[in-house]
Amino acid sequence: MEQEKNYINGEWIAPQSNAYIDVENPVTQEMIAKIPKSDERDVDAAVASAYAAFPAWAATEPEKRLALLKEAIQWMMDRSDDMIRTLREELGAPQGFAKRVHVDGNLKEAMEQMELAGEIEYVREEDGYEVWMEPYGVVACLTPWNYPLGQITSKVIPALAMGNTVVLKPSSQTPLTAYWFAEALIAAGIPKGVFQMVCGSGSDVGDPLAGHEKVDMVTFTGSTKGGAEIARRASEGVKQILLELGGKSPALVLEGADLEIASKRVLDTIINNSGQSCSALTRMIAPKSMKEEVERALLDRLQTYKVGDPTQEEVDAGPVQSKKQYDKVKGFIEKGVKAGANLLTGEIPRGDAGYIIQPVIFTDVDNQMEIAQEEIFGPVLSVLYYEDEEEGVAIANDTKYGLASAVFGPEEKAKAAARKIRAGNATINDGKSPGNAPFGGYKHSGYGREGGKYGLLEFLQTKAIFRQE
Ligand code: NAD
Repeated sequence: MEQEKNYINGEWIAPQSNAYIDVENPVTQEMIAKIPKSDERDVDAAVASAYAAFPAWAATEPEKRLALLKEAIQWMMDRSDDMIRTLREELGAPQGFAKRVHVDGNLKEAMEQMELAGEIEYVREEDGYEVWMEPYGVVACLTPWNYPLGQITSKVIPALAMGNTVVLKPSSQTPLTAYWFAEALIAAGIPKGVFQMVCGSGSDVGDPLAGHEKVDMVTFTGSTKGGAEIARRASEGVKQILLELGGKSPALVLEGADLEIASKRVLDTIINNSGQSCSALTRMIAPKSMKEEVERALLDRLQTYKVGDPTQEEVDAGPVQSKKQYDKVKGFIEKGVKAGANLLTGEIPRGDAGYIIQPVIFTDVDNQMEIAQEEIFGPVLSVLYYEDEEEGVAIANDTKYGLASAVFGPEEKAKAAARKIRAGNATINDGKSPGNAPFGGYKHSGYGREGGKYGLLEFLQTKAIFRQE
């Protein structure tokens, strides 16, 4: 694979700067690849070719576009073992989670979304006029490191399916899976200029891309800080913007909740992917009267996970993805201890196990503490207690974020509480999300939705046609 090159105008080409960024394996801490450290010149070339390719791609019959994209997804499914290996090397994920969620799960969702794309109505007769749904043009896709494949498939595939052309900038921390994605599109016969991939840093590539005059839409998944900067840049050029940002999602426990279900659902999100999931339920908010039972249930459930060397078969989660992430999570654990939260289990990591951090549960957390307000992005849970349900809901909403939420308790009461929580989704008890449900945030967690038909419609704009009668 051409890992030291960008894919622009149907060709793999070296970055203009001739400079490169090392990619680290977080398990061995070895440098395993180099990717381009591209700059504005590569961005200009990529956007120019996406711009030139747009009219023909937008005019291609939707069925032809979908057939090509399904072929690309199938190509990846046929090579899932290779993709899993690459993803594990760059992210440090164990085999089971890498296969089930990162690769097989995301590819299945992408294929299902392409089935739904076949049902999109591009022309609709309204009362005395027509409505046409049309692509925006050139879409810039900026993706984070924590789900290296899923964040790309949930942007690039629907954008292309709806007739846009794309410039992708994957995260420079986990960019290698993106090369498989590019190869899949090439193998399926993507026409020259329809898809570009330019690697590099946020400041060298993401910034000029988001502000480029020929980019019509910017879709960004990443931190709230990065998203706000991107949105500022893109809004100067009046571009369509979609932001999928950070979270500090509450899990509200009501009287009568099944604590086995609650502790499993919460700890799964804290431990899977080493806690590096935007929608992780990092604040468990429970009645004070249930303190003892809640803590016992969490400790019992915690015993069933193993965090360690992800190359070992029985391990559920490996290290966090980078030294930077390790230092950040460690810093938050120190802050929690200093602020007086009770360390129910876990410790301040000592650095003797690479970037591995054993799960930490803080209890008796005050919602104003930094560990309750800031996204930690590691295996750290804060447990908070409330006197009555109204206070519980108020604590759940006392955050700048609004990405996900969960409520545990008698079904109808739980549903009523879920309606009061300002977040883009709410899981009730053991509720399961079918992959193609809409996903996205309220408040500082962003705007716009990904997934299924909602994630397709984001890449279309609306034109009204008034006919002469
Ligand atoms: P990040 O903001 O550092 O980077 C995301 C991407 O944007 C990267 O490609 C980066 O190079 C680029 N970028 C960052 N700042 C930029 C800037 N100022 N200008 C231009 N480009 C810039 O985020 P990250 O650390 O890679 O990812 C973790 C974050 O992503 C977490 O906050 C997590 O919650 C969030 N996330 C959200 C979702 C969601 O769907 N809401 C999903 C996954 C991750």
